[in-house]
Amino acid sequence: MKCQYCSKPAVYHRKISNETVCKEHFCTTIENKIRKTVRKYNMFSPTEKIVVGVSGGKDSLVLLYNVMKLQQRYHQSPPIEAILIDEGIEGYRYESTEIAKQMCRIWNVKLHIVKFKENFGKSLDEIIPKLPNLKINACTICGTVRRHLLNKKAKSLQADKLAIGHNLDDQTETFLQNIVRNDLKRILQHPPNGNITDPDSFFIPRVKPLMQVPEAEISRYCYYMDIPIQTTPCPYVEKFFILRKEIQNFINALEDQSAEIKYNLLKMNEKIIDHTKIEIDQDTSFDPHDHRNFCIKCKSPCGEKRKLCYFCELKESLNCNI
Ligand code: SF4
Ligand SMILES: [Zn+2]
Ligand SMILES: [Zn+2]
Repeated sequence: MKCQYCSKPAVYHRKISNETVCKEHFCTTIENKIRKTVRKYNMFSPTEKIVVGVSGGKDSLVLLYNVMKLQQRYHQSPPIEAILIDEGIEGYRYESTEIAKQMCRIWNVKLHIVKFKENFGKSLDEIIPKLPNLKINACTICGTVRRHLLNKKAKSLQADKLAIGHNLDDQTETFLQNIVRNDLKRILQHPPNGNITDPDSFFIPRVKPLMQVPEAEISRYCYYMDIPIQTTPCPYVEKFFILRKEIQNFINALEDQSAEIKYNLLKMNEKIIDHTKIEIDQDTSFDPHDHRNFCIKCKSPCGEKRKLCYFCELKESLNCNI
């Protein structure tokens, strides 16, 4: 089997488009897809300062490399910077931080490391033992604190956009999870392309340039591009992501029967958001962003009747005095 773009041996058959590609053209097709996604959704322009959230995992490194490549084509683009949030998870965070440091050194990208311990008051490992009393899982705490710190740091770096490494699988799983939970608000809060036009200037607009790239192709791209892949899993993931894991297995099983399933889910996600927006415009009592109030401590938007945002509420309930 030969590559359809050159005469080299093909290493991959992309079922959805029936393309057969060699290593080089596999990587080119991924990079083209990312570039077209950025253009289609108007994610960022050459003059904007882009900050990339990196975890040291494969998605964020592929994202960083591609955003860097895209902006490097223009002389006037401000340099890309990267932020890594260190939750303080023993045995897990070390490997990914070392990978992120190594790749940022090679690519000449400034990396900022923001630690939970120094910016929230406690590491995740210090918080977990208190969970039974709090009735909240590790990933919810981790996500809330990470989002807040990422946004705060991106703001301090005067970023125009914050790029995050959500891939096609992440987005479709989130979408289906919100469907089975009957949670329209969350569907609207997590559009596939990111919150490019966030109604509230408190948040740096987020973009997801990998939204159309399947996870399996990201792994393959890393392999061909010599981007290291983290091997240590987060110790909390299995325990708390049960529903998500089942949804992931379900989508992957469907994909075996029909290659376009993930793209169909993505399109449906966009359609639901577009159609619901029209209805919301006519119904003033429904606010998907819940941004009617502002936290009395950090001034971030929070839900109606709330005094504190989730981040500050967590800080209080966990006695994080910082
Ligand atoms: S799996 Fe959960 S706890 Fe672990 S890093 Fe991800 S969000 Fe945080
Ligand atoms: Zn080729
Ligand atoms: Zn707050």
